[in-house]
Amino acid sequence: MSEFKQFNFKDEVFQGIDAMGYEKPTPIQIEAIPAIMEGKDVLGCAQTGTGKTAAFLLPILNRLCDKDIEGDKIYTMIIVPTRELALQIDQQLEGFGYFMNLSFISVYGGGDSSTWEQQKTALVMGAEIVIATPGRLLSHLALGYVDLSHLECLILDEADRMLDMGFYDDIMTIIKLLPKKRQNLLFSATMPSRIRTMAKTILKNPVQIDIAASKPADGAIQGVYMLEEQQKLDKIVELFSKDEVAGAIVFASSKIRVKEINSALKKLKLSVAAIHSDLDQKEREQVMRDFKNRKLQILVATDIISRGIDVEGLDLIINYDVPRDPEDYIHRIGRTARAEKSGVALTFVSKKDIGGLKKIERFLGKQLFKIPSGS
Ligand code: AMP
Repeated sequence: MSEFKQFNFKDEVFQGIDAMGYEKPTPIQIEAIPAIMEGKDVLGCAQTGTGKTAAFLLPILNRLCDKDIEGDKIYTMIIVPTRELALQIDQQLEGFGYFMNLSFISVYGGGDSSTWEQQKTALVMGAEIVIATPGRLLSHLALGYVDLSHLECLILDEADRMLDMGFYDDIMTIIKLLPKKRQNLLFSATMPSRIRTMAKTILKNPVQIDIAASKPADGAIQGVYMLEEQQKLDKIVELFSKDEVAGAIVFASSKIRVKEINSALKKLKLSVAAIHSDLDQKEREQVMRDFKNRKLQILVATDIISRGIDVEGLDLIINYDVPRDPEDYIHRIGRTARAEKSGVALTFVSKKDIGGLKKIERFLGKQLFKIPSGS
């Protein structure tokens, strides 16, 4: 039986699943949901695009339905690397939790003093689920007004990314402030030894779940263009002049390049916008909203959004530069072919990128298809 019915959720949770239009659980949901419902710790190796967010949110929501909640207490904390991922989880919670009387809040950096005050008020009042980036959460915790004594479940999402971003110490400091008796769920796209070591410190006898360990989503068609650095801009213009795309992201290694590509595509009268660190948080959110609502067809971005962002129905990803490490490549490819839809991922490789390409190919255990020039 591969239906959601097998999970014995409360009616409100089933209503949320229906409202989100999910028909059957994905493999990680089939494996993780029962373990989480039994209260076990879970160590999940799964990339974005596999449905891992719902895999942890649904059992958590189911448990909260049962609670006789007096006032709002913080029962669950989800720690994530970026505000974009926090917002994405927030949106899924809004959908799933629509039929429940649920309070949740996202706490992340950026924003002005009113954002800080809003976060502070919500944390003082309590919210059943807190989604937070480590640095900002720690700043609030240091001021002593957050009551974590009711916390029952800690979720670390995209743990590998958090370690890459240097959040290890922050995470361990936060953990020391939590009740010892709690459930721990740790999700990571890759399982290098430092994640295993971290998992050993935090998790107790975890159920280990390994979904397609570090392989791109099956539906992604991948190809490589071998070209000179100075041919890249022409190539991208050529690709976008030929075919119409409904949703595409171009990733580049610096904001100068992002701006260059953005203006080249604008000249083609395409509906395109750039997202990079010069934009403030509000502007970034607006661009993401427009992209998700299909007001924009093409997004040109630096690495900041390469992981964890949930955008439906992308049909094309272009790596204008080869990403720094193979895991980033996997994450980007994960933007297409989500939940079993197919998509195309093209990578531009110049001389300086060849080492990076080799690393990716070793990681994937296969050569990527080199598209003949002229096609
Ligand atoms: P995630 O891996 O959590 O980022 O989810 C990837 C995408 O798949 C998101 O757009 C989810 O809304 C979607 N998704 C997750 N689970 C299911 C499911 N069981 N059926 C259909 N879509 C799903």
